[in-house]
Amino acid sequence: MHALNHRLRKIFAPQRADGPFWVIWILGLCPAVAIWSIFFTDHLSQVNWWIVAASYYFMAMGVSMGFHRYFSHSSFQTGRVFQFILGLAGTLSGQTGPLSWSLEHDIHHRNCETEVDPHSTNVSFLHAHILWLWNGQARHSELEKSKWFKYPELVFLEAAAPVIFYAFGVTIWVAFGTSAMVWYWLLPSALSFHATMMINSVGHGHGFFPYKDMYQPDACRATNIPWGWPFILGDNWHCNHHAYPTAAFHGWKWWEIDPNRYVLTVLHWVGVVKRPLSPNQKILERNAASRSTMPPQLSLAAPNFWKEQEEATVAPEAAE
Ligand SMILES: [Zn+2]
Ligand SMILES: [Zn+2]
Repeated sequence: MHALNHRLRKIFAPQRADGPFWVIWILGLCPAVAIWSIFFTDHLSQVNWWIVAASYYFMAMGVSMGFHRYFSHSSFQTGRVFQFILGLAGTLSGQTGPLSWSLEHDIHHRNCETEVDPHSTNVSFLHAHILWLWNGQARHSELEKSKWFKYPELVFLEAAAPVIFYAFGVTIWVAFGTSAMVWYWLLPSALSFHATMMINSVGHGHGFFPYKDMYQPDACRATNIPWGWPFILGDNWHCNHHAYPTAAFHGWKWWEIDPNRYVLTVLHWVGVVKRPLSPNQKILERNAASRSTMPPQLSLAAPNFWKEQEEATVAPEAAE
């Protein structure tokens, strides 16, 4: 099975170690195209906003519930069918595939707001939002290390991500025309892209910090964005999330609206999802207490980074 996965990766992405930046580049331009189309589409009244919303929320769910809560943090369990649906929905959003997205996000959590963080707001707001995609740092050259590499269907999604993304758009274009392609594919994918990136930019240093002391490492400035839930389905409670990354629910208080939480709860009731890890005050306190002493796990991007940090911290005492 592993040999098949290696072959799949070679066939579809022989040199794609740096990821399909061209996909992202196009997505960055999408809002401009969408605004342009508002003025040049004759049939604005014919746009079916239910389809726009369905397309948008399918993609946003694929990223927030799939790529983020499931593939990056394993915050709940599910079977292979729903796992594939989550992977496909995320891939259709145009943000690469489940393996690379989750590997990169892992690096972000382990190295939040340091020089190893792929999208640190320390560089600049714009860097955190979109420019980081151009520096090629820390991007999925080590897909084989992903825990998801053993699933050929996921490796296929990963390797063929740009093809799948554009094939979706071309299919809509051929079947329903240019206007449908812009409104039902281009606009939702661009919006879901920017909603995701909003967490990296606005969600680090530009919101509220209810759990400031519970980060790892201390430099992390993840914040809650109270108005963000209609766009990114609850992943806007990003301060909560950094304080307790493996919790399946990001909204903890009743007023922290977390649409993914409600959907996951229903999916749990009907048996599609198992063991969604709920936030637990005791674990939260234990996380906070252990963070000052717990050595962070090694980063895939810079395996020596934390070792160097630890040595730098330990060295003065050792010298005495
Ligand atoms: Zn973050
Ligand atoms: Zn995360």
